[in-house]
Amino acid sequence: QALLPVSVRNMSTNKTRDIDYQIHSQADLRFHESTGSIVMTKGDGIYVIDEQGNRYIEGMAGLWCTGLGFSEPRLAQAAYDQMMTLPQYHTFGNKAHNKCIDLAEKLVQVMPTCGKSPLNKVYFGSGGGDSNDTAIKIIWNYFNAIGKPEKKKLIGRVRGYHGSTVVTTSIGAQPGMHQPFDCPYGDRFVHTNVPHHYTFGKDGETEEDFATRMADDLEKLILAEGPDTVAAMFAEPLQGAGGVVIPPATYWEKMQTVLEKYNVMLVSDEVITGFARTGNMWGCETYGMRPDLLTCAKQLSSGYLPISAVVVGQHVYDAIADFSQKNGVFGHGYTYSGHPVSAAVALETIQIYEERDIVNSVRALSVPFVNGLTDLLDHPLVGEARGVGLVGVVQLIADKETKKAFHPSVKAGMKVFTACEEHGLIPRVTPPGDRLAFCPPMIITEEEIKDMLGRFRKALDSVEPALRAAQAD
Ligand code: PMP
Repeated sequence: QALLPVSVRNMSTNKTRDIDYQIHSQADLRFHESTGSIVMTKGDGIYVIDEQGNRYIEGMAGLWCTGLGFSEPRLAQAAYDQMMTLPQYHTFGNKAHNKCIDLAEKLVQVMPTCGKSPLNKVYFGSGGGDSNDTAIKIIWNYFNAIGKPEKKKLIGRVRGYHGSTVVTTSIGAQPGMHQPFDCPYGDRFVHTNVPHHYTFGKDGETEEDFATRMADDLEKLILAEGPDTVAAMFAEPLQGAGGVVIPPATYWEKMQTVLEKYNVMLVSDEVITGFARTGNMWGCETYGMRPDLLTCAKQLSSGYLPISAVVVGQHVYDAIADFSQKNGVFGHGYTYSGHPVSAAVALETIQIYEERDIVNSVRALSVPFVNGLTDLLDHPLVGEARGVGLVGVVQLIADKETKKAFHPSVKAGMKVFTACEEHGLIPRVTPPGDRLAFCPPMIITEEEIKDMLGRFRKALDSVEPALRAAQAD
C-alpha cells in the first residue's frame, strides 16, 4: 500500500506535527521526540484542557504569568478593541501612542517607594529577558555617562535566572545554560551564592548567620574583582526558576549594606515577583530591597500578550538623558516597545488587579496556601516546603534525617512531575532537579488550593515506591 504524502502524513495528529516541526524550550529534544507533548487546546479559570479533554490545574500559572487565569474575557475585549483602533505603532524618536503613555503613567503610580530615587521612567519591551538586557545597557550607559567607564561588571547569583538572551544568560547561572552556549560571554559577569539555607546552611548555622555569611561572600567577591569595576547586582527578590529560593529574613538588608558600601547598583528583577505574587505589589517591598532599577513582565499582562518594562530611578534617567544629548541619541530600541495591543491588555490587567484588591486577596489566600505546603512536611518524601504569597516549593528528599538527596539518576523530580500530570496537576521541576514549584493563578480559591495540594500528595504517594526502589539500585 502506498504511503500517504509526507505533508498529509505529518498532519495526522497534533502530537506528531509538534514533534515534526517544533523545537521546544528547556527539553531533552531527542527524548521529546519519543514522548511528545501534552497538547493544550483550551483554558478555563485555573485549568488548562488538553486535546483529549483532560483538565489540569495549572499550578504554575503557565510560566509564572497568568495571574488572572486562562479565561478572563475583559483582557480579550481590551485586545480586540485596541486591534480595531490602532493595532501597531511605535515609540521611536518623537512618536508615541495613548496606550503606552497611559500604561507608563499607571506603572509609575504603582511602583514601590523603596527605590533609591523615585522609580519614575519606563522603557517597554516584549519579555523579561529583553527588559533585563535593556537594564544592562542602561547601566553600562549610566556609568559611561557619569565618567566611570571602568565600572561595568555585573553580579548575578548561582541558580539566578534573568532571561535567555546572550547577556541575561551570562548574568544568570542556571545549570545547563552556560557551558553549552559558551556563556558567560566575556568577562563582565560574576556570580555569588544562592541563599538556600536548607541545602547550604552549615551544621547548626542559623538563617541569620547564614545570611551574614552570604553578605560576607558578596563583599569578598566585590573586593576580589575591584569595587571600581563592579557596576550592579541583578537579583530576583526570591529566586524563581532556580528553585523558589526564599531568602532568610535579613538576607537583603545585609546584602544591600555591602552593595551600597561599594556603590554597586541593585536591579530588582520582578518578572516573577511583580504584581502581588509575594503578597505585596512588588517583591522588593516584601524583602525591603532598595533597587535602582526594576524590571517586570509576565503578570504585567497576565501573560496574555508579550510585554515587559524597565523602570529606572530618576538619578539613572538624568544621567542617561544628559548623555543622549551629548551623544545625539539614546541608541536603543525595539519595534515592539510599548506595543499598543499589549499595552491595552496590560492596562486592563492592572485595572482588574486594583478592582479586586489583588494584594490583599493574595495575602488572604497565602494563609491556606502556605499552611497547605507546610502540612506536606509530614510526608516522608518532603524535606523542605515553603511559600510566600502565592509562590512556593517542595523539596524532595531521600532521607529526612540526614538530608540525603535522591541520586540524580533516580530523576525524582521528573517522576513526581509526571505523576502530578497523571493526577491532573501541572507544577514545575526546578533546579537542582528535586524541587517542585507552585505559582498558581492568583484567582485560585481556597478550595482549589486544597485540591491542588491534595493532588500533589496523591502523586507523591503513588510514586514513592518507585523512587525508593530506584534509589536502592
Ligand atoms: N527574569 C525572571 C526572574 C524570570 O523568571 C524570567 C522568565 N522565567 C525572565 C527574567 C525572562 O523572561 P522572558 O522569558 O519573558 O524573557
